[in-house]
Amino acid sequence: MQVTENTIKKFVIVGGGTAGWVAAATLGNIFKDSDVTVELVESPDVAIIGVGEATIPPFLETIRSLGIDEAEFIKATQASFKWGIRFENWHKKDHAYFHPFGSLGRDIDGHEFYQCWLKSKAEGDETPLMAHSPESVLSDHNRFFLPFKAMGTPLASAHYALHLDAVLVGRYLRDFAKSIGVIRTEGHVEAVIKNEQGFINSVTLKDGREVNGDFFIDCTGFKGLLIEEALQTGYDDWSHYLPCNRAVTVQTKNIGETTPYTTSRAQNAGWTWRIPLQHRTGNGYVFCDKYCSDEDAIATLLANIEGEPITTPKVIPFVTGIRKQAWNKNCLALGLAQGFLEPLESTAIHLVSKTLAFFVRLFPTKECNPILMSEFNRRVKADYEEIRDFLVLHYSATERDDTEFWRWCQNMEIPATLQKKLDFFKVSGGLIPGVEELFQPTSWYAVLDGMGITPKNYNPTLDALNYSQLNKSLTSGKQAIEQVVKLQPSHDEFIQQYCRAPIP
Ligand SMILES: Cc1cc2nc3c(=O)[nH]c(=O)nc-3n(C[C@H](O)[C@H](O)[C@H](O)COP(=O)(O)OP(=O)(O)OC[C@H]3O[C@@H](n4cnc5c(N)ncnc54)[C@H](O)[C@@H]3O)c2cc1C
Repeated sequence: MQVTENTIKKFVIVGGGTAGWVAAATLGNIFKDSDVTVELVESPDVAIIGVGEATIPPFLETIRSLGIDEAEFIKATQASFKWGIRFENWHKKDHAYFHPFGSLGRDIDGHEFYQCWLKSKAEGDETPLMAHSPESVLSDHNRFFLPFKAMGTPLASAHYALHLDAVLVGRYLRDFAKSIGVIRTEGHVEAVIKNEQGFINSVTLKDGREVNGDFFIDCTGFKGLLIEEALQTGYDDWSHYLPCNRAVTVQTKNIGETTPYTTSRAQNAGWTWRIPLQHRTGNGYVFCDKYCSDEDAIATLLANIEGEPITTPKVIPFVTGIRKQAWNKNCLALGLAQGFLEPLESTAIHLVSKTLAFFVRLFPTKECNPILMSEFNRRVKADYEEIRDFLVLHYSATERDDTEFWRWCQNMEIPATLQKKLDFFKVSGGLIPGVEELFQPTSWYAVLDGMGITPKNYNPTLDALNYSQLNKSLTSGKQAIEQVVKLQPSHDEFIQQYCRAPIP
């Protein structure tokens, strides 16, 4: 084996939204003590999308891996805490369920908790599944505490994420990236210059400056300036599975207590979100234009908000799907340039970090070996398919038939991969594991149960256990959660003590 030749010495990231600055911070951190340069070019003429304010727990791991102090980051981004998502009116009207992060109950005598709960249910026990989730019970009581400070209690297994101000996150990561040596160039890219093999050599800015690089990262948003307009990579449209294609957003003043969860409420032609931050609340309506006009969507959104609006409603069109190759030649697409799955499970920012982590694992030389590229693209696609299937479940399992949109959902074609998963679940109460999946069994059980899907059987080996002992264990687990939750501060009290952000 020889020392690697042809190593990449210069990365050029085009785009300074969340994707661009997460990439700059991640690569800048890896190469901060080397001769590799990371330069980010952002346009003063094109605004960032400015949404993307609900995250999932792995985003905090990204922040920690950069050595950023969590409390400082929370204050700088006006963040609040999130235990999961409360889904309202999805299964049927006036019905709600909770999708928590983290674990659910405890295994009993080597039997998976969910199977024990199914057995108990079959015996007539009516305790809801979510009574065994610390995150769900904490959310019911609007409470928050850091799990790692509650070792030895059921709270220790809880997981949390953040709600954050997208613009402030971009600013924070920009300052962080610059502090570790990333070069920031302001300029609007007008042309992309390629060599004979079709690899990108440089980008030309409006004022004539040229920015050269060995490897380019396209973070230019939906248009995909490098990956699509220059390299014509192509896009797989998944609208036939997830037909929502527009969102209208509005910010409001805070009102009432800050909830430690995102709310997702099903509407006539899609769903509305509510994301509480320390200084304001983000709201939006994701809808399908086949069943709802922009005017009706704005009216629905404004009818569903709680505080006074502080911005005018903004409509954002999108096409659900994925770029045919996230990595093509010497260009990697990240964020909206890579693909888009509606924000129902807040997965987009996570996909930026996960894609980067995988890219680092398969790190290329300047030639960009097609074998690495092909494996990389297969894995990114698998991540998208996994999330797509999980999102489709939220819609296709509905019992709502009160609007044309929901009737369509009830009869929709679902991906074969999801059908296989559902068939297996219905027979066994179990799940077919995939590879490095984002959504663990707790997530699937929560949504399946919330949408009224119950398996036919529990694992018959549970009949060999003494049922009254099993029920006692389940009851004591549930009571332990109730007791510890009562002792915790409210979400607002916790923020006040730990990470109150300055009033903007
Ligand atoms: C309605 C909606 C709700 C969402 N909610 C969530 C959520 O709750 N959670 C979540 O994780 N994600 C969410 N997302 C996704 C999230 O917003 C994005 O993944 C994230 O903001 C990253 O965006 P981006 O950086 O790819 O693109 P953008 O923010 O659009 O940034 C594009 C950048 O490219 C630059 N640029 C464009 N053209 C040029 C040019 N010619 N030259 C130089 N620079 C250029 C722009 O100046 C800008 O800096 C949501 C998305 C939408 C549409």
